[in-house]
Amino acid sequence: MTNRTPPPIHDVAAEFDTLPGVGPRAALRYAYWLLSQPKDRILRFAEALKKLSNGVVRCTICGLWSETSPCSICTDPTRDPSKLCVVANPQDVRVIEDSNAFRGRYHVLGGLIDPISGRTPDQLWIDPLYARLTGETAMITEVILGLDPDVAGDTTSLYLKREITRLAPAIHITRLARGLPNGAQLEYADEMTIADALENRKE
Ligand SMILES: [Zn+2]
Repeated sequence: MTNRTPPPIHDVAAEFDTLPGVGPRAALRYAYWLLSQPKDRILRFAEALKKLSNGVVRCTICGLWSETSPCSICTDPTRDPSKLCVVANPQDVRVIEDSNAFRGRYHVLGGLIDPISGRTPDQLWIDPLYARLTGETAMITEVILGLDPDVAGDTTSLYLKREITRLAPAIHITRLARGLPNGAQLEYADEMTIADALENRKE
């Protein structure tokens, strides 16, 4: 972005530039593309962003983004209250839901422990997880760690296993089977693979 770029275009491009996987050139391209659209299209885009920030809240129980808190999964009485699947990101919940292989509830950490990028446990939604496992009304007997099979996923799984065993020794801890290829991201796995990984989950 040169300083010859008009400020309104520069500002929008600077916002796109902060998105994951978008570099400054693509960011500028997106800004110009938006500018080439009819005005009502741009306003619709802005309106959708506004709704994203005002119309969605984080479920105080599971950490999932939802229109209500508690979310529809946490309040669904047909869900198995004894099984809790821990995932890194909200997208992972959608992938597992699409597989129709799991009818328990979820806990969304909001990321993974990653020493390389400096992400530590206290930056994740972990304390609410402990509260769910140890609270007086806790009904969870199995925690399924549905974290990506890569370094950060392994680090987080080991950390959680150790902490959960210490806080709630009776809880059974399993991890999604290695049907998922090493280094694969849960987010991109297909429904059959997810269903298999759930079915064959390991201690
Ligand atoms: Zn929830």
